[in-house]
Amino acid sequence: MELAKRVAALTPSTTLAITAKAAELKAEGHNVIGLGAGEPDFNTPTHIIEAAEEAMKEGFTKYTPSGGTNGLKDAIINKFKLDQGLNYSRNEIIVCSGAKHALYTLFQVILNEGDEVVIPTPYWVSYPEQVKLAGGSPVYVEGLEENQFKITLQQLQETVTDKTKAVIINSPSNPTGMLYNEQELKELGEYCAEKGILIVSDEIYEKLVYGENQHVSVAQLSENIKKHTIIINGVSKSHSMTGWRIGYAAGDKDIIKAMTNLASHSTSNPTSIAQYASVAAYEGPQEAVEEMRAAFEQRLNTVHEKLNSIPGFSCLKPQGAFYLFPNVKRAAEMAGCKDVDEFSAQLLEKEKVAVVPGSGFGAPDYIRLSYATSLETFEEALSRIQRYMSQFQ
Ligand code: PLP
Repeated sequence: MELAKRVAALTPSTTLAITAKAAELKAEGHNVIGLGAGEPDFNTPTHIIEAAEEAMKEGFTKYTPSGGTNGLKDAIINKFKLDQGLNYSRNEIIVCSGAKHALYTLFQVILNEGDEVVIPTPYWVSYPEQVKLAGGSPVYVEGLEENQFKITLQQLQETVTDKTKAVIINSPSNPTGMLYNEQELKELGEYCAEKGILIVSDEIYEKLVYGENQHVSVAQLSENIKKHTIIINGVSKSHSMTGWRIGYAAGDKDIIKAMTNLASHSTSNPTSIAQYASVAAYEGPQEAVEEMRAAFEQRLNTVHEKLNSIPGFSCLKPQGAFYLFPNVKRAAEMAGCKDVDEFSAQLLEKEKVAVVPGSGFGAPDYIRLSYATSLETFEEALSRIQRYMSQFQ
């Protein structure tokens, strides 16, 4: 049967090919190290699991309001107050089945055919596809490595047209790990507010920030910027709850209402049990969040220099999230590969290390390595890559 045009235009994830190949090699008995993980390698904290058990025992197993329970909305409202000093009401929050679904629903309700969404590169793989699925057109702006992969106000000004509906800011970033500072956010935020452009602020890695760096939400910087911002966040990365599928959006009540209407005809509601557990995630002890953050930071500090010492690799030090994003253009050339996609395939083929090529993030000279894996495993992967590159020196 002929499929709908909107899905025919969907590009498959570039990570899929390499993940499939890694799985195939593993099945053949090879000792493959996968550095593609986009999720914390820790278990969900025990008190959250216990809350889910309690939810099931207490019969909290039925439909909930489409936009999420009042209990979870209140926990999210409280979190915004505590962490960012931001005030939201229940009608300015929607709980969705993961942050990814919150973004999907948002683009569905704000975009008309031909509306443009500015997406800084390198970008998280799902942004362009979600914008296209909603009939919008992604417009890319290159976040240069010299500027820590961040876009500048001038670049944004040169990109905005009268069709620009929204701009995506993802800080800390997947895949680069970089953060926008307060001044940068203020400049971008004020410009968008003045132009009536919606800022989609994806803050899913908010809790994973290292060294002296601090996460700032663009919505904190003025009441007017807040009015033009939809914050996207969730418990997946902060509380190691990727499989529970709880994320949310916060912002303008009319947008939230439209998203809630759409959810009422698609998912009905996020899982009742996961919502109940997410209240415990926000209202219970937060030590585990800090422990996981500290573990990621320790790994980063241990492996970053080692990665940079590999011939042909050059990597800025990430400030957050759990990815390293080295430029490997020279390494690919040294290895005689036509591009970094081929180089990534070679690393898998020859050394059984699976990395994600940057082409999927709109940055074809780079690869993404996730350190959401044990230090021992990551170091073994680096040794293998080092061994592979040593033959080309
Ligand atoms: N935004 C970014 C930048 C991400 O990296 C991810 C997950 O990889 C998400 C959103 C989606 O998170 P969730 O698991 O809550 O859907």
